[in-house]
Formats: sequence, C-alpha cells, structure tokens
Amino acid sequence: MTATSTTTLNHWIGGREDAGTGDRFGEVTESATGELVARVAFATEADVDRAVRVAAEAADAWGRSSLGQRTKVMFAFREQVNSRRDELARAITREHGKVLSDAAGEVQRGMEVIDFACGLGHLLKGEMSGQVSRGVDSYSLRQPLGVVAGITPFNFPVMVPLWMAPVALAAGNAFVLKPSEQDPSASLLLADMLKNAGLPEGVFTVINGDKDAVNALLVHPEVRAVSFVGSTPIAKHVYETATAHGKRVQALGGAKNHAVVLPDADLDLAADALVSAGYGSAGQRCMAVSVAVAVGAIAEPLIAKIQERIAGLTVGDGFDAASEMGPLVSERHLGRVRGLVDSGEGDGATLLADGRAIAVEGREGGHWLGPTLFDNVRPGMAIYDEEIFGPVLCVVRADSYDEAVGLANSSPYGNGAAIFTNDGGAARQFEQDITAGMVGVNVPIPVPMAYHSFGGWKDSLFGDLHVHGPDGVRFYTRGKVITRRWPDPADRGIDLGFPVHS
Ligand code: NAD
Repeated sequence: MTATSTTTLNHWIGGREDAGTGDRFGEVTESATGELVARVAFATEADVDRAVRVAAEAADAWGRSSLGQRTKVMFAFREQVNSRRDELARAITREHGKVLSDAAGEVQRGMEVIDFACGLGHLLKGEMSGQVSRGVDSYSLRQPLGVVAGITPFNFPVMVPLWMAPVALAAGNAFVLKPSEQDPSASLLLADMLKNAGLPEGVFTVINGDKDAVNALLVHPEVRAVSFVGSTPIAKHVYETATAHGKRVQALGGAKNHAVVLPDADLDLAADALVSAGYGSAGQRCMAVSVAVAVGAIAEPLIAKIQERIAGLTVGDGFDAASEMGPLVSERHLGRVRGLVDSGEGDGATLLADGRAIAVEGREGGHWLGPTLFDNVRPGMAIYDEEIFGPVLCVVRADSYDEAVGLANSSPYGNGAAIFTNDGGAARQFEQDITAGMVGVNVPIPVPMAYHSFGGWKDSLFGDLHVHGPDGVRFYTRGKVITRRWPDPADRGIDLGFPVHS
C-alpha cells in the first residue's frame, strides 16, 4: 500500500517501539467509515527471531524475581488499565466497530483477569507433605516456562490478549503477543501500560503481522508454549504445528452456539437474551448465540417476540451513544457474511428480517449489515453448518428436548450452549447431556468469570487446558516435586532396593 502520511503501527520489542525489517504492511480501517486509519508493520521471520531472543533473555531474570515484585507490577498494571480504559475502548470501537459501551465491557472483562493475576502469590502456592518417610518431606513448586506466545483474533482486541498475558506474566514468563492485524492498536497501548507499570524491558513483546509471523513463532525453539484464539482451521494448524515442534498448546477455535428454548420458558426473557446474544457486537463473538432451537409450539410466539425486538434495534457508528449495534470488521468479512445470507435464501430457509438493505446515513463507506433472522433452518444449509460470525440468527424448530439436544450435540463445535426453561430438572439434564465447554441456564452467553477457566469442546478447542483461571495457571507453569531429607548419621548405609517409606 502507498499511504505515506498514514500512521504506522510498529512492533514492541525490548520495551520500546520497533519498526522491524519487513517491507510488508497491512491496512487498518475504521469499520464504521471504511477509512484507512493506520498501516501496520508485518514482521519477518528475522524480526520474530530477534524479538523472541530478547524475550528469552528477559524471561530469565523475570522468572527469578520475587513474588512480591511481580505482584507490585500486576497491581500497577491494573491501575494503568483502569485509568486508561476509555482510551482502550475507543481504540476498539474505531478499529473493530463494536459500540463504545460494548468495548468498555470488553475492557472490564479483561481487567478481571488482571485482578485474578494480582493474586499470584496464592495462585502459585505449592503443596507440602511433611514426614513422608522418617526425616523426609515432599513439596511441589510451579515454575515458569520461559517465553510463551499468544496469537489473538480481531473480535476482542483487548480482552483476549488479557485472557493470556496477565496470567503468563504473573507466573514469571515473558509473553510475546501476535495480535490480529485488523485491530492492532490496543496491543500497543497495553504494552505502554505494562511499561509504565514497571514491567522490565523485553518481558512483554508485541509482534505485528500475519501468518508469516505466526508460523515463525510456532516453530521457534525458544517459544515454550502457544495460546491461540481464532477460527477452527487456523487453531488446528497452530495446534498441529506447534505440538510437532514440542510446544505446549491451547488453541481455541470457532463456534456455532445453540440456545434451546423449551415450551415452558419465559419467552420474553428468552427473546431478550437471543436478540442480545445474537446481535451484540454484530454477532462477532465466539459466544454469540447463532442458532435458536425452538421446541414445540412456542416457535411462533418466540419468533414474533424476536422480530418485535429486532425492529427496535438501532444500528450505527459505535461512537454514537444511540447505536446498539455497529458494523462488521471489514469489507471482506461483510462480503462473506452477505454471501451466506444469500445462500440461506437460496437453500430455502425463511428470511424474516433481511439486514442487507441497511443504509447508515453519513457512514456509507462502513461495513454494514443489519440484524438478519432466518426461520426453518436445517442441517445441510450453509447458514446452519458454517460459523457465520455476523448478525444472523437462525431458528431451527424441534419437536422434543431430545431432538434439540441431539442437534446441538451433532455440531462439530462445542464452545457454549444455553437452555431457557423454568424446569429445574430439564435444565439439570441439559447440563449433563450437552457436549459443550460452557453452559448457560437462562443465561445466553455463559462466559466464565476470570477465576474459572474459559474453553470449549470438540472443534472449539485443541489442547487440554482452557484459558485463564486455574487452567491458565497450570498452562503457563510446570510442576516440580522435591523430596528432601537433611542428613542424619542414623540414615547412613547402602540399600539397592527400591525406595519405600520407613
Ligand atoms: P483468524 O483465525 O482468521 O485469525 C486469528 C489469528 O490467526 C490472527 O492473529 C491471524 O493473524 C492469525 N492467522 C490468520 N490466518 C492464519 C494462517 N493461515 N496461518 C497462521 N496464522 C493465521 O480469526 P479471526 O477472524 O481474527 O477471529 C474470528 C474467529 O475467532 C472466529 O472463528 C471466532 O469464533 C474465533 N474466536 C474464538 C474464541 C474462543 O474462545 N473459542 C474467541 C474469540 C474468537
């Protein structure tokens, strides 16, 4: 690209901005106008190598620093994010497009992981067993891995990096972030905040770029672990490549979250929840509800209630306080989602609300698609089988609980699922039956709090450990068990037998 007067977003290496050596750049646009706001440097393999080596050097001292020192940095980082939360939210809204209140919510949920990581003294405690044998004690430690990498998607440019970095850093690792090239500004703000918080140079790194930067990280010998969040095909590629290179990997993928509405449900509550979770952030959430399964005769009244609510939604620039839903992230993504809406019509689903005709005055260049609703959707249609990641809610009709759950469970994805009902027994049965990692009961987007762990099942997560919470601490540390005896002359003597307790 040729934008000479455009701001360039660089990398962050060794505690400062770094232009890198590449000659490739990406375009960062304002989603509501389509205007170019910056260009972002794309790292070369050599840039990645240099950044990881700087990080590896810094990791050594940071990993040996006291818990007290690291706790102090985490609290100061929390203060930085708290006092600059508006700046972060504005960066999200400009580049991603989500409305400012939604962006502020994203910052809040990210900050909660910093709150969690501030308790690192407690989180990293080992276990102790005294007198496991005469004069012998055993205890366990958790130690950092060294350099760990995080590769993140466009849809949560603050929250997803904060799912990873605070826990990794608190545990004593150096963290290398490769954010989405579509909205990279927030990562550089986080880097500045960590520096102001007193984090030593090199312990937090931002590598901007595309697949070349990712692929260089996946095979770098100094990178010990990789956390990834993004689409399923890339998650699988990341998992397979990085594990083949001996790394620990958690790779979170895409989703097709089903919400089952039983006949006894509070239909107003269910309709509110489906509209909020279907169209919030223009459907660009991995925990968006994209399929509503209406069980029995409530389909008609439920759909009527959803339609009423859709008609009242205000779509517009995320900086306008009246807007409830913003644009899609890019022209390319808009084209893909529109194509899927076209296919739904062609495949015979009933189009009840068509967002394709939307016009937002004064923002004609934005990536707009209004709330779209399909009824009579069935497996085999692309709008059912594929993750759409746009403001498109699909209603599927089912005759029974078993049919509804069978449908949800046959999805290759298993991120989140929800049930709407007033029947405690049915809800409990659903909790047991459903093959998804996060389950909501009368809650549409069951995103776990920071002190629990976030992650799906099936093609929504490759790896064993989920992100943040207790799994996050385990992922970013390795265990060591020490068996200790202080010499006592009474214990002398050679014994070639297998050690047993005495
Ligand atoms: P994406 O997979 O296109 O990109 C994610 C990251 O991978 C980016 O940093 C990108 O630069 C990199 N990447 C892209 N193509 C690559 C390639 N060929 N090789 C190596 N790296 C590559 O995802 P996205 O469009 O940014 O984000 C949306 C997707 O993320 C959706 O599928 C959504 O469901 C998913 N997501 C999942 C979760 C979850 O918790 N499971 C959370 C948020 C988003």
